[in-house]
Amino acid sequence: MNEAGDRPGALRFAIIGAGMAGILSAVKLKERGLTDFTVFEKADRVGGTWRENTYPGLSCDVPSHLYSYSFAPTPEWSHRYSAGEEIQAYFERVAHEHGITDAIRFGDEVASCRFVDGRWHLETARGHRDEVDVVIAATGVLHHPRFPDFDGIDDFEGAVFHSSRWDHDVQLDGARIGIVGTGSTAVQMTSALVNRAGRLSLFQRTAQWIMPAENPRYSDDEKAAFRSSPEQLAELRTNLTQMFDVFANAIVDADSPEMKMIAEMCLENLESNVRDPELREALRPDYQAACKRLIVSPDFYEAIQQPNAELVTDRIERIEPAGVRTADGRLHELDVLVLATGFKTDAFMRPMTVVGRDGGTLAQAWAVRPNAYMSVSIPGFPNFFMLNGPNGPVGNFSLIEVAELQFAYIMKLVEPIRSGDYREVSASREAMEDHEAARVKAAEKTVWVTGCRSWYLDDRGIPATWPWSFDRFRTEMQRPSAEAFEYR
Ligand SMILES: Cc1cc2nc3c(=O)[nH]c(=O)nc-3n(C[C@H](O)[C@H](O)[C@H](O)COP(=O)(O)OP(=O)(O)OC[C@H]3O[C@@H](n4cnc5c(N)ncnc54)[C@H](O)[C@@H]3O)c2cc1C
Repeated sequence: MNEAGDRPGALRFAIIGAGMAGILSAVKLKERGLTDFTVFEKADRVGGTWRENTYPGLSCDVPSHLYSYSFAPTPEWSHRYSAGEEIQAYFERVAHEHGITDAIRFGDEVASCRFVDGRWHLETARGHRDEVDVVIAATGVLHHPRFPDFDGIDDFEGAVFHSSRWDHDVQLDGARIGIVGTGSTAVQMTSALVNRAGRLSLFQRTAQWIMPAENPRYSDDEKAAFRSSPEQLAELRTNLTQMFDVFANAIVDADSPEMKMIAEMCLENLESNVRDPELREALRPDYQAACKRLIVSPDFYEAIQQPNAELVTDRIERIEPAGVRTADGRLHELDVLVLATGFKTDAFMRPMTVVGRDGGTLAQAWAVRPNAYMSVSIPGFPNFFMLNGPNGPVGNFSLIEVAELQFAYIMKLVEPIRSGDYREVSASREAMEDHEAARVKAAEKTVWVTGCRSWYLDDRGIPATWPWSFDRFRTEMQRPSAEAFEYR
């Protein structure tokens, strides 16, 4: 028996990040009896995205009964699309109820991971060291805020902050609030703030397609029925999954009938709910629906038509002490400026230093752009896996299901290591190159390349996403291809 064979089952794991994917990993490792792990979390609480984003109006835009773990359904969701703080409470509760909180090392960022003599050596920002067999990087994708480089922003005399770093000390009632951006965040915020603001200016670079979606509250009777009948809850989830599958499968074919139906719904929403023809034209996107992430909102059009709201389409020229100066020469005087300008979606686990086999670094591997076989494994980085890594499925569906499928896939890859047959596994270079070539080719048919700028596109203008159907993703995740991975 080889050396690893002397200790089957004795693998030690490090999970980096205690957001949705890190909690999932810890719960699932524990469930499999793989209890020798530590979760490293640089913040002081679990939750990731849902801990960091606390802006008014934050909610999920995937129904809550779908945006929950398959192993932790809850009858208690208050709304079809529940609010951010309810989602944060859900993740905290799951972590607590599954007894993983004690395994989390809070307030300590993993600064480096080095593969030395068959094991990963981790060092944190506080100097703590650990040695593990397997690393699961669950460090998030919408995590590092993207700040616009407007001239004069430091001179602004009001409050200015990124949407994911909300300053709750700032007075909003009666304030003149400016929002930069028109993504889901900006849209949710506009609806939540318009009735509180003295004046609200929404600075739009690109108009968005808005999918109308009511957000009803679940009644006490409905919740009681879910409580007493887990079958009913499961059925609801199955129905939602089927509904969202239609969408997830449709966006990879820009000409599909489903895409046409979605476009018609968005168009009808615009035509019938925006009264002023000039505003309607300003809000009309000039690209195909779902090319950018589709916005889901029951009331954005109503909010932007309030008398104290203004859609500003002139380009932002600079920021001045009193407000925003647009290209038409107008000064929009403001007390608060919120930058709803999104995230650096190509950062992933960086700035962490990762050094793989034979001294190869992540900086070298990702010098051109981030990549990984099936978003999970990087050649030359054995026993190192990512959840929600580069080029994975993104879109208007639940990233929880994506992470659950990826985690199960990783466990299948790790099994021969756990059983002691091998010591190391990572994707082969050839498999990754073939996968990437096929991915880029398939991306040509998707709706994301039909003529818009979006955070889905990489520096070449190629969608940094899974370009095939969600069904295909599920199938691929069922069983890792034996040829694609190198075991040693
Ligand atoms: C405003 C907003 C709305 C969203 N709405 C939806 C939605 O409706 N549906 C949907 O499916 N998805 C949505 N998402 C995407 C969301 O990010 C994912 O659903 C999910 O929360 C990601 O979980 P994660 O664990 O992969 O990453 P994150 O939640 O980002 O967690 C990563 C964690 O890793 C920690 N970390 C990172 N680096 C290190 C390090 N080196 N050392 C230690 N700790 C580290 C971070 O502190 C963080 O806690 C939304 C995102 C945003 C920003």
